[in-house]
Amino acid sequence: MKVFISVDMEGISGLVRWPDVSSSGIDFPLNRSLMTADANAAIEGSFEAGATEVIVEENHGVEDLCVLKMDEIDTRCEVIRGAGRPGSTTMAGLTESVDVVMLIGHHGRAGSFPGIMAHTISYGAFKLVTLAGQPIGEPDFFARRAAELGVPVGMVSGDQVVAAQVGEICPGVETAIVKQAYANQSGRCIPPGRARVLIRESAKRTVERTRAGEFQPIHSQGPYEFVVSLRKPAGDAMRSNLASLDHFELIEDSTVGIVAQDMDLGFRRVAYLGYADRAGVTKY
Ligand SMILES: [Zn+2]
Repeated sequence: MKVFISVDMEGISGLVRWPDVSSSGIDFPLNRSLMTADANAAIEGSFEAGATEVIVEENHGVEDLCVLKMDEIDTRCEVIRGAGRPGSTTMAGLTESVDVVMLIGHHGRAGSFPGIMAHTISYGAFKLVTLAGQPIGEPDFFARRAAELGVPVGMVSGDQVVAAQVGEICPGVETAIVKQAYANQSGRCIPPGRARVLIRESAKRTVERTRAGEFQPIHSQGPYEFVVSLRKPAGDAMRSNLASLDHFELIEDSTVGIVAQDMDLGFRRVAYLGYADRAGVTKY
């Protein structure tokens, strides 16, 4: 039983505002420990229920995807971290051999209110990301990429907003709701010590239910058509970069259309728009 855990930071227990998840924030070192502890709770629950392998993949973009504390993480897992991974940055370790995906510390999609630190890939650059006209968040990318590989998503932890959104995409998914969002940077939190019990129990049930065949990959098939609404109109550098690339179309000043055959490419192409405003940067 192989478990893939994607760990993000915005949905970690006790954290509610942007300085909580940025290296300039006063509590960032402590919050890295809280993130590691939520991940450990999921790892522990997985092994308790009989997982034989747990891969943790860091999904939080601040500091080049190196936020977990390596001296505090459960020694039974392996951690994929750092930027420049092969394939889409946050799903490089997701392969056909994985039995179930868990999304720990995830957050609601861009445009959600409430929704603690809700965004899709880039809070600073993207106002909204849609797929076939429907707003999507990071869990949509994961669930669809996993589906392409024949793997189901079995669990999410975070606020009630991301739990509901993942529940829509993956009916019956296990949810560990560690905070109730009041707005985009406030909420009512279960103290992390208690939240971890929820996460551990939820992870345990996820592995048991996976073994019982209760989760199925969702249906997902390319080609996919995305529209990204940028917060700022594309500048000269982005315009010239996009003009030189296939699969991208500047529809309006701050609206870009993207086409991709699969979700690995889809994620990479959408994420590229977050840094496409630099002259000559056309790699994604
Ligand atoms: Zn994040």
